Amino acid sequence: MSQLASVGTEETIARFQRCVIPNYKRYPVCLVRGEGSWIWDAEGRRYLDLFPGWGCNILGHCPPKVVEAVRDQVGRLIHVPNTWYTEPQGDFAELLSERSFGGQCFFCNSGAEANEAAIKLARAWGHPRGRYKIVTMEHGFHGRTYAALTATAQPKYHAGFEPMVPGFTYVPHNDLSAVEKAVDHETAAILIEPIQGEGGINLPAPGYLEGLRKICDVRGALLILDEVQTGLGRTGTWFAYQHFGIEPDALTCAKALAAGVAAGVLIARPELAAVFQPGMHASTFGGNPIACRAGIAAVETIEEDGLLARGVAVGARFQSRFEHLREERPELVRDIRIRGVMIGLELTMNASAVVAECLERGVLVNATHDVVVRLLPALTIDDAQIDQGCDVLADAVKTVADRRA
Ligand SMILES: *Cc1c(COP(=O)(O)O)cnc(C)c1O
Repeated sequence: MSQLASVGTEETIARFQRCVIPNYKRYPVCLVRGEGSWIWDAEGRRYLDLFPGWGCNILGHCPPKVVEAVRDQVGRLIHVPNTWYTEPQGDFAELLSERSFGGQCFFCNSGAEANEAAIKLARAWGHPRGRYKIVTMEHGFHGRTYAALTATAQPKYHAGFEPMVPGFTYVPHNDLSAVEKAVDHETAAILIEPIQGEGGINLPAPGYLEGLRKICDVRGALLILDEVQTGLGRTGTWFAYQHFGIEPDALTCAKALAAGVAAGVLIARPELAAVFQPGMHASTFGGNPIACRAGIAAVETIEEDGLLARGVAVGARFQSRFEHLREERPELVRDIRIRGVMIGLELTMNASAVVAECLERGVLVNATHDVVVRLLPALTIDDAQIDQGCDVLADAVKTVADRRA
């Protein structure tokens, strides 16, 4: 057992089995400490983490400036409610507003909560206009609370929880004519991830997001982007929409927002944001000073260390390594989809088996949509770590393929 753990992994797992609701599938590993792209378990084993914090730890584990900001804040003021003003919330809102489209922020604590806020804002905006419907895309993912779950157009996540919230319409992804048919005079908003994350790192077809913007403008509906996974530098820009020359009416962000500290935000155009009058929406912990200090430190670190550009270079290195694998074994790789440090490798085999092989070799990756290996590495990962991770991943892919053959 490592000095950092007070008990071994087995004992912790036994405690979970007694006392923690079993709604997650967990690997039998208890993690105790992280630094950058490295993480250690209770037995002192080290892993290379290509999926740190499920995309939340965009600066890797325990980035020094974020640690320092949180330590400083926690000794001054841990929490006060939103009946008062605090400097960190105002500062963080200003940083986000300036790096997006000059919108105003509502802070909360997670992605689902940010989407709930966006959906409520769209409904409140639409109410006097007779608009209440929300159009979302198949294979999208927006979270697990009821409205966010209903917005998630994947039957497997709805199963057993019906009836869902009324007023949602689903269309196939990347199909503009389907959207045109679905949007009518009762539509309040289109809600979409600019790049689908959980759905398998699905990039928008050329002209698709621009087309959605146009449909919204012509039909008088709102365009709301779920940037919970793509936001805060994941794709090489602060927000993914900035690749496409459009602006949304509102966006949501969470995961990377405060570099691993729980935080979510809805950013809305000021005219739209004005719909939320005092009392209409709230979050007790939202915009708390610890999360906001962490978020400010994250933005400053990304800027001072030139990490948006670094993220593009990281993506390019993964791209060339994956292309090498595809040249070597074309029958194993179906597609490579990369934008910055948002990375999908679509295989011709079960991706969960590849994840298990990587874990055995000390590398943490994720599988989504059956055949896609998803990586959301830290912007701070170095070239040697990328190469090591890609060597292990390629080896794992070949092992699973050869076992199958
Ligand atoms: C993870 C995710 C969510 C849900 O975020 P939570 O913090 O788990 O509630 C919503 N939308 C997208 C695009 C996500 O990736």
